[in-house]
Amino acid sequence: MLKIGCHLSISKGLLNASKETVSINGNTFQFFSRNPQGFKQKEFDEKDYQEFLKYNQENNLFPPLCHAPYTLNCCSKDERVRELAKMILEADLKRMSSYGYFMYNMHPGAHVGQGVDEGIELIANTLNDVVKPDYNGLILLELMAGKGSDIGRSFQEIRAILDKLILKDKFGVCLDTCHVFAAGYDIVNDLDGVLIEFDKIIGLDKLKALHLNDSKMPFKSFKDRHAPLGQGYIGLDTFIKIINHKALKKLPMYLETPHETLLGYKEEIAFLKENYLE
Ligand code: FE
Ligand code: FE
Ligand code: ZN
Repeated sequence: MLKIGCHLSISKGLLNASKETVSINGNTFQFFSRNPQGFKQKEFDEKDYQEFLKYNQENNLFPPLCHAPYTLNCCSKDERVRELAKMILEADLKRMSSYGYFMYNMHPGAHVGQGVDEGIELIANTLNDVVKPDYNGLILLELMAGKGSDIGRSFQEIRAILDKLILKDKFGVCLDTCHVFAAGYDIVNDLDGVLIEFDKIIGLDKLKALHLNDSKMPFKSFKDRHAPLGQGYIGLDTFIKIINHKALKKLPMYLETPHETLLGYKEEIAFLKENYLE
């Protein structure tokens, strides 16, 4: 079964997001742990959470994926920014633990000047400080498009972070189709080759989720601009190949495509389901 959904707001609660997911024929969704541009987080609502669990079970939904705020930067040059990132991560992972088992996706960070190696070291240090053996979730590092000084723009950079982590089993990787394409991995002409390389460098067993986005910007543009499926440089044929690839077809997939209303996601989900081979 295709595990598919889209990014949704949980400002009206988790239950509401699950209901929206069902309304667009999805079976999972992604949400921000807190305001993506800031750090504000809603109070934990036990009643909403219990109703959400019950609803998900009745409707056969898969657990959602939680996304960290964009402003979180574990490898800033500024120690105060790093300390803040650590506090946010600690609080988010605690929240994730109270949710039970959710995967938590994060952008590795931007080194803003002090260099990639130092950045990788700082990211790993922060994660090693924050992630404890009793944490019952899985943290995903997202592959990035390579804009500015973002870390995680190549399989090698992700590998370098993973190598420095102590509790390796608590970490996985999220592959964003727009990001890897913009970063110079040719999923359009050589999906197999890209996945073979991923396997060699990171290991396909580490791949735990996909973000399905077309790209407004061309191959190797190093720009992170999502487009609706079929309205960018990746194209619908490649998405059909991606959802049916034997190394990918069982993974949960999340649309982060720009749409004004849920209808856009509903249409994309319908298209993907029509073209998915069980
Ligand atoms: Fe992301
Ligand atoms: Fe993404
Ligand atoms: Zn993006």
